[in-house]
Parts: sequence; structure tokens; C-alpha cells
Amino acid sequence: MNQVDNDFLDLPNISQPLDVLVVAPHPDDAELGMGGAICKLIQQGRRVGIVDLTNGEPTPFGSTEIRARETAAATTALGIQWRYNLGMKNRFLEPSLENRHRLASLFRLVRPRWVFAPYWSDAHPDHTAATELVEAARFWSKLTKSELAGQPFHPERIYYYFCIHLKLVPQPAFILDITEHWPAKAASIEAYQSQFVTGRPTEPPSVVERLREDAAFWGKAIGVRYGEPFASKEPIGMKSLNSLF
Ligand SMILES: [Zn+2]
Repeated sequence: MNQVDNDFLDLPNISQPLDVLVVAPHPDDAELGMGGAICKLIQQGRRVGIVDLTNGEPTPFGSTEIRARETAAATTALGIQWRYNLGMKNRFLEPSLENRHRLASLFRLVRPRWVFAPYWSDAHPDHTAATELVEAARFWSKLTKSELAGQPFHPERIYYYFCIHLKLVPQPAFILDITEHWPAKAASIEAYQSQFVTGRPTEPPSVVERLREDAAFWGKAIGVRYGEPFASKEPIGMKSLNSLF
């Protein structure tokens, strides 16, 4: 077993493969981009995990310890069963061969049917690096005769969530109704006090209020109260039209 494989010996216990793995450049990106979808998937019996690529620090009001506590609280708010931090370097994230090896090995060990990645166009270099890393790791994950951990595995789909540092109004491939799950999503974001409350302007709207307005915008587009948009590079197949409304 080589050095990279050894890093995976302390993976949290996983008794069966995940249905969905959300890959986040920083703790809080998964919550911001798809906290509602995560709650919905869990409610529907799916096994959902998050892998944070970095610890997100340094930030003006955070620390490694504070951020870890906040991440744990957000994880509880969403009810996520499995979460892991790959310990890559915040602000210096690169789709390097070493990082690809680590993420591809993780895919092979947790075997998610679907992977969610950050949207591919973003001002934050860590986010675009994460997108590139997910796509490359998905391909590597299926390779035979490699030094990767686990057995060859190919996640069926990559979908892209929006947590973007860019003034952009995207054209999503689909919008998910998260009306029922907005309160849990808001709670998971408010768990990151050091990121979204401390040091922020005290006059309204708060960060969470802005996010609620975003969710209302996407909800209005599909005729519900709150929605979350998603993108896909590959066509989305459907077994029937019953899911349309
Ligand atoms: Zn981020």
C-alpha cells in the first residue's frame, strides 16, 4: 500500500456505498449550494455524504477549531450521515495528479452513484479547481491496473451546484423544490457564524436573508416557494414524465 492509500485508513466508517457524494472546496459550500437538496435526498432515504476538500481557513473571523465546530453543527442541522475532510490546502487548491489520486481513491472507497461538484464557472480559483478535480477523479476512479485504493468504480452522474463568487445568473438544467427544507438549509448556514454573522453588516438584509431571496427567485421560476438550481454537462435521463410538474 503506498503513501496516498495510507491516508484513507482513517476514513469514517462506511457500511455500504453512498448514493450521493457532494464535493465541496470549503466547509459551507455544500450547505450554500445544495443544503435543501441534501435534506430532500436524506428524507427520501438516500445515503448522502460530503467531502470537504480543505478546511477553508484562514478567514477573517474563523480558526481551524471554530470552523470544525461550525461544520459539525451544520452537519447535524442537515442530518448528513457521512462527512470527511481531505485536508487539501485552502487558497492553493489545484487539480494536481496527487489530489486527483486522493479523490479518485475516495470515490472508489465510498462508491457514490452520483457526485455533485461546484459549478464550472466561478471567480474563486479553489472552486474551479475543485470542479476540474472532480471530473478528472471520476475518470481515474474507473481505471484498472492503477495504484488507487479500492476497486475500479465509475460514478454514474456528475451534477453541479451553484455556490459561486461571481455575479452570474446561471441557466440551470433543473430546479429542485426545496420549500419544505428551507428552514434546515438556513440553520445549516447559520451554523457558520464566523463566516456569515460575525463581522457582517448588522443592518438587513443578513446573508441568510439574501440567500432566502435567491431561493425564492428559483422557486418562483418553477411555481413553488423555494428552489435550488443545478447544472449538468451531460443530458439528464428520465424514466417517466411523472417527475415533471
Ligand atoms: Zn468555497
